[in-house]
Amino acid sequence: MKYKRAICWFRNDLRLHDQEALAQALRQAEEVIPVFCVDPRTYQKTPLNLDKTGSFRAAFIHESLQDLKYNLQVKGADLIVLKGLPEEVLVDFAVLHQVQAIYFSQEATAEELHVEGSLEEAANTKGIVTQSVWQATLFHLEDLPFPIYQLPEVFTTFRKACEKQSHIRPVIPAPDRIPFPTDITSIGKIPGLQDLGLESTEPHENAVLSFKGGETEGLKRVTHYLWETDSIANYKHTRNGLLGADYSSKFSAWLSVGSLSPRWIYTEIRKYEKEVEKNESTYWLIFELIWRDYFRFVAKKHGNSIFKRWGIQPDNRPWKQDKELFMTWAEGMTGVPFIDANMRELNQTGFMSNRGRQLVASFLANDMELDWTWGAAYFESKLIDYDVCSNWANWMYVAGVGNDPRADRYFNLLTQAKNYDPKGDYVRLWIPELRAIPGFDIHRPDQLSKNKLLSLGIHLGLDYPRMVVKPKIW
Ligand SMILES: Cc1cc2nc3c(=O)[nH]c(=O)nc-3n(C[C@H](O)[C@H](O)[C@H](O)COP(=O)(O)OP(=O)(O)OC[C@H]3O[C@@H](n4cnc5c(N)ncnc54)[C@H](O)[C@@H]3O)c2cc1C
Repeated sequence: MKYKRAICWFRNDLRLHDQEALAQALRQAEEVIPVFCVDPRTYQKTPLNLDKTGSFRAAFIHESLQDLKYNLQVKGADLIVLKGLPEEVLVDFAVLHQVQAIYFSQEATAEELHVEGSLEEAANTKGIVTQSVWQATLFHLEDLPFPIYQLPEVFTTFRKACEKQSHIRPVIPAPDRIPFPTDITSIGKIPGLQDLGLESTEPHENAVLSFKGGETEGLKRVTHYLWETDSIANYKHTRNGLLGADYSSKFSAWLSVGSLSPRWIYTEIRKYEKEVEKNESTYWLIFELIWRDYFRFVAKKHGNSIFKRWGIQPDNRPWKQDKELFMTWAEGMTGVPFIDANMRELNQTGFMSNRGRQLVASFLANDMELDWTWGAAYFESKLIDYDVCSNWANWMYVAGVGNDPRADRYFNLLTQAKNYDPKGDYVRLWIPELRAIPGFDIHRPDQLSKNKLLSLGIHLGLDYPRMVVKPKIW
């Protein structure tokens, strides 16, 4: 027997393709109401007085919701937008509209689990059935070759086991039509940045990509990266780049809000391999998506530990909590050009390459010896593609308190800068003041005397060549 009416509660799954929660609601109810809740907890300040969701991501989410609304309208439905705690406003809405069941995606981390637990309790008390589904990963939680508490602590062991003993479920097609009730008159407005108390963002001319939120744009980006430019066929060799739109896929922003399904990307790659070319690069993009899976399962297994300074290791390092020093890092004013350039890119565009993220995280944790959880919280605020599991588990990994078989992981900044930015083009793009200094090694401003700089009449606006913290290996 079908329910008369159900809600599909959209969370980080803002899409119609491969949408298991929506598909189940449509199978089991005569009418389906798509709802999104603007939860004020998502927009509050964090203990470091940062916006939990900064302007870049907020703008991206806004665009994603607009696109979802439009796509739902095309299918005969709409997107109801409620403001408030889902466990209150969504349940009140459900009672008011005689909804019998609520379908939604399961998350993996504490705050999100708290919300869904509270919602389930409140809904069930009112006699409303709740049904959650797991759908953010390539490999389904239920298809892992081990129970989650036995998840291997080493990525390679995890990957090999999954590749051998598991499978990836097929993509669920987007519905043709969504039967939407006719008696719902109050739809609700998608809040803009101003409504959320955030400053608006401006497109930056140096940004790697002008990210635009929404399933439509996400799908276009996949078409671009695979079918239009064949960039995927070279991905393994370009993925450590720093400049330009296509050195890496940039799928992360759409994946983070669920506008792209990883299984859909996987299916497109397999199709590309059949129809165009299969090589180590096409596989490598799948390999990276498996990293993404891994960190989500790590979060599920280890719960709150991924947010703690000691992570999942017996760590008792005396992490410094020096706000002034931390701000030099955050603002790109450390005096180490490669670090500062990456932080400026993040601050001005909301994006940073994977290589950059590894290096600035390592510099903060291993050279500055600052509390890495501060760095992770800073990324949470700034990244357009912030994903709670990928962010905190990667930070934990780089800080040496996560899933890393090598305890001595330390990035030699100079070698890295010289390998990945040999001519200093990247640094010059983000620290244009350095363009004007002829004949010096852009990655080693410490080798130039301050007098020399001054005599060149350069006003750098920061204290080059004095380092706030000198990298250990220089
Ligand atoms: C300190 C630190 C913090 C990070 N924070 C985030 C975050 O908040 N959100 C996020 O999506 N990624 C995060 N990453 C992982 C990675 O840097 C980004 O996924 C990647 O740079 C996004 O660009 P892309 O989509 O072009 O990646 P591509 O190189 O094209 O990779 C394809 C996809 O694979 C996945 N992927 C690639 N590398 C990783 C990785 N190391 N961990 C998990 N997934 C990966 C992503 O979904 C990515 O979109 C972080 C990495 C570090 C070192």
